[in-house]
Amino acid sequence: MQSIKENIRLVEEKVCAAAQRSGRKQEDVLLLAVSKTKPVETIREAVECGLTSLGENKVQEIMEKYEPMGPGVHWHLIGHLQTNKVKYIIDKVDMIHSVDSLRLAEEIDKRGAAKDIVMPVLIEVNMADEESKFGVKPEEVETLLRQLSSMSYICVKGLMTVAPFVEDPEENRVYFRKMRELLVDMNAKKIDNIIMDQLSMGMTGDYEVAIEEGATIVRVGTGIFGERYYPDRG
Ligand SMILES: *Cc1c(COP(=O)(O)O)cnc(C)c1O
Repeated sequence: MQSIKENIRLVEEKVCAAAQRSGRKQEDVLLLAVSKTKPVETIREAVECGLTSLGENKVQEIMEKYEPMGPGVHWHLIGHLQTNKVKYIIDKVDMIHSVDSLRLAEEIDKRGAAKDIVMPVLIEVNMADEESKFGVKPEEVETLLRQLSSMSYICVKGLMTVAPFVEDPEENRVYFRKMRELLVDMNAKKIDNIIMDQLSMGMTGDYEVAIEEGATIVRVGTGIFGERYYPDRG
């Protein structure tokens, strides 16, 4: 089995090459190490290789790993967030990638206000209109942005999508391209307080294509840590 260090070297090489193909530099793309299901000892290996931004999809896991990992790492919540759990992570995460409703945004704004934290967020968009996926439809993004624009403790940084699971990453290129177009279109509306420059898109199977289409954050789990095991699922 390849070491995490070796995995990271390979992924970073590909990130660098894809960034160059899109006329950018490696530093223009944040490689978020998706550490869900992995224990802290394993995650530390990635941090030692310089990957200090970590993505988790469950509030519970951030809570468990927050103290052991200590300062010097940056947690990103990338999975669906229930309104009643915002209070647990409001002072622990650097960014919430998965804002998909007004109600959730209102709760983040309220909890942020209580702790004087302005939370950077992304709007999750269901680009391929998949029934199984969270996220707002592309045509609903503008309405949500207008609702969020007046919230003092939310700073909308951009858009996030989880593309369909496909064999050939080229199949997802169209969705990544449409995400970028959506971001440009939304910025052109000149909504108060809304200037977005972040596109969180691309996972292990398709991050190179995503970067070619303008991703600024790629969320890579398996490519760094190897396969995930879910004991409960047998
Ligand atoms: C698990 C997960 C990832 C990483 O998936 P890999 O295919 O292992 O790279 C990225 N984004 C989200 C939202 C996830 O839940």
